[in-house]
Amino acid sequence: MDIIIGAGISGLSYATFCGHNNYLIFEQSNRIGGYCKTTERNGFVWDYSGHFFHFKNKDIEQFVAHGIPVNDLLTIHKHTQIRYKDRLIDYPFQMNIHQLPQQEFIECLYDLFENPMHGFLNFKEMLYAKFGKSIADKFLIPYNSKLYACDLNTLDKDAMGRFFPYAEKEQIIRNFKVTNNDTYNATFVYPKHGAIQYVDSISLHVHKDAIRLNEPIAAIHPNDHRITLQSGETILYDRLISTIPFHKLMELIGESKNDVLSWNQVLVFNIGFDKQGLDITNHWIYFPEDKYCFYRVGSYSNILGTDKCSLYVELGFNNEAKIEPEKLLPRVLHDLQEAQIISPNMSVVDHETIIMNPAYVHISAEAMQYVASKKKLLAHDDIYTIGRYGSWTYCSIEDNIMEAKELANVLNR
Ligand SMILES: Cc1cc2nc3c(=O)[nH]c(=O)nc-3n(C[C@H](O)[C@H](O)[C@H](O)COP(=O)(O)OP(=O)(O)OC[C@H]3O[C@@H](n4cnc5c(N)ncnc54)[C@H](O)[C@@H]3O)c2cc1C
Repeated sequence: MDIIIGAGISGLSYATFCGHNNYLIFEQSNRIGGYCKTTERNGFVWDYSGHFFHFKNKDIEQFVAHGIPVNDLLTIHKHTQIRYKDRLIDYPFQMNIHQLPQQEFIECLYDLFENPMHGFLNFKEMLYAKFGKSIADKFLIPYNSKLYACDLNTLDKDAMGRFFPYAEKEQIIRNFKVTNNDTYNATFVYPKHGAIQYVDSISLHVHKDAIRLNEPIAAIHPNDHRITLQSGETILYDRLISTIPFHKLMELIGESKNDVLSWNQVLVFNIGFDKQGLDITNHWIYFPEDKYCFYRVGSYSNILGTDKCSLYVELGFNNEAKIEPEKLLPRVLHDLQEAQIISPNMSVVDHETIIMNPAYVHISAEAMQYVASKKKLLAHDDIYTIGRYGSWTYCSIEDNIMEAKELANVLNR
């Protein structure tokens, strides 16, 4: 029997593609979906932070969408900006330096061409080498430091992979006159009732009796192919497919804590108001400055076209921070006013907070080497670890589905 830990996108996808019914899925939460859960109440639709979808592979797109009414899938052309000092400039920053005050524009342009740095070994050096000191210091470094909550020197040069909006000098110059701010998600799809619609659609393939909710796995005993649930029950497996964060898997196996893996936490405020907000065009806005406690604010109301402002607000913390969400709410509301997203006469109708821990893993050469070598050893014991956190990576749900499908094909050939 296959035992799958976690009923998020990766666990459900593995069950879908494994080609047999001899599996059980153990999920610690009372609902399926992992980080793709949605709260829908009081007229607001909120995900675990903004989840917007763009698929490269048409087969995967059809697979996730097959159980969703066509009219529920909105296709949106992304509109996003950066609050930079007293103005909003278009995202990505490096493509829109011509929208800065003249002196700052000249600094950015000069440094882009007169750049003493060529080689780079880590993420921070990559930003300096590719974009010059001014673009890096004005936006790329402060924004990413707020998001990752770590020194960017510790991240691998390719820590964000295809999700980083690289730009050549020629593209930057061309953009001064002919706008093309397209990034990997220039157009995205969003289900009207939130990310959970994709989860529900995938779960149509999963044999329902196999999902056991509210069942955290408390220990794994690789030598005798056995797991222990928190309830004390023990179950034998032939293969164990884990989708939980890698460091948690190692803890369940009994490995002592290591210092190689680190990550950030993201505190999300989903907030619904009684009126429309002041910004009715942006789908989300980036905030590099420390005077705002958040690094990004997104608008469900601008995406869904609803008339009451509905926001998600994201704050980054390191993995050791003790977060007290409700204490931070007044500061968040204050900063939203400062940022001219809400006005003083708007009232909060409803809100919720979510701590995503981990949210973004810190990708370094050392961490990747550690995970790869442990994965090999685990496979000898028939333990396979996949998913955004199981594989310790930066990815989308499409990547999770493809990884789960590949593993299912290899194991069940
Ligand atoms: C801020 C943020 C924004 C994102 N935006 C997007 C986006 O716009 N588009 C996109 O495609 N992707 C986005 N993602 C990525 C996406 O959320 C993930 O790729 C995906 O949800 C990961 O699914 P998973 O199944 O691998 O992991 P998870 O969703 O983490 O699922 C793991 C499951 O394991 C369960 N579990 C943990 N421990 C135990 C235990 N001991 N016993 C039993 N069960 C356990 C958990 O409860 C959870 O349900 C975003 C991620 C973040 C952090």
